[in-house]
Amino acid sequence: MKVIWNNKIVDHEEVVINPEDRGYQFGDGVYEVIRAYNHIYFCLDEHINRLYSSANKIELTIPYSKEEIKTLANQLLKESNISTGDLYLQITRGISSPRNHTYPDVAVLPSLTGKANEIIRNTEKLTNGIKTSIEEDIRWLRCDIKMISLLGNIMLKHEAHKKGAEEAILHREGIITEGSSSNVGIVKDGVIYTHPDSHFILPGITKLVLKRCAHALGIPMSEESFTLDDLKEADEVFCTSTTLEIMPVNQVDNWTYSVTDDSIVRRLQRAYEKEIEKQCGP
Ligand code: PLP
Repeated sequence: MKVIWNNKIVDHEEVVINPEDRGYQFGDGVYEVIRAYNHIYFCLDEHINRLYSSANKIELTIPYSKEEIKTLANQLLKESNISTGDLYLQITRGISSPRNHTYPDVAVLPSLTGKANEIIRNTEKLTNGIKTSIEEDIRWLRCDIKMISLLGNIMLKHEAHKKGAEEAILHREGIITEGSSSNVGIVKDGVIYTHPDSHFILPGITKLVLKRCAHALGIPMSEESFTLDDLKEADEVFCTSTTLEIMPVNQVDNWTYSVTDDSIVRRLQRAYEKEIEKQCGP
C-alpha cells in the first residue's frame, strides 16, 4: 500500500508519525477529501485551492507548490490503482518540541500525508435517500476552515448514528447551517435554498458544482439561510459532499420526504453525473 509522505510516495510501513507532531497533539492541520472516478480526480483544482485557502487561514505555509501536490496526488492514484475512490490528504504544522501552543518557527516543516482508497458509489442510497436527524450545531465559529480537529463534527455524527440516522443536520438557534460532514439544501416551490458561505459552514466544492448544475438546468438557487420550520415544510431535502455527491434525504427526525424520478434533486443528480463524465469520462 502506497501513501504520500511529505514530497514522496512511499510504502505505508515507512511512515513514522512523531508523537510531537502538532496534528497529533493539537489537531493543528488542514485536509481535503478528493473523489476520483475512472482513475481521474474530480474537481482536483478546486480541492487543492481550498487546501491552500484553509492553510492560509491558519497561517500554515505549505512548502510545496500546488503543481507538486497535484503531481503527488496523481502519482498516488496511479500507483494505488484506484478507479472510483477517495484521496484523503492532510497537512499539519509539523513537529514542535516540547509541546507548546504557540505556532513554531516557520522553519519547522509541515507534515503532509495522503492515502487513497477504492470506494464505490452508493447507488442504492443515491436512489432512495438517507435518514438524518436534527442536532444543535455545537461547533466553533470558523467552520469555513477544513481543519483536522473534527471532534465537534464527530460527536454530532455519533448522536445521529445513535438515532439510526446517517447524517446530522445542524442548526444554530433554529437556522440550518450544514451537516456534520456535508452541506444541506432544501427545495421549496421550485427554488433551491442553501446556507450562504460564511464562517458557519464549509464552502463545499460539491455545493459549487450543484450551483453549476442548477444554473444549467434553469433551476433558481438562492444562497439564503433557512430555518428548521422551512426544513420541515420543504418539498425536498438533500445533502452534498464529495463522497455523498447530491444525496437525497428521505427523513429528518420524524418528518419524511419523497424522492421521485421527476424531483428536482433527481434532475440535479443527473446533471452532476454529467459533470463527472465531462471531467472523468463515462
Ligand atoms: N461541510 C462539512 C462540515 C464537511 O465536512 C464537508 C465535507 O466533508 C462538506 C460540508 C462538503 O464539502 P465538499 O462538498 O467540498 O466535500
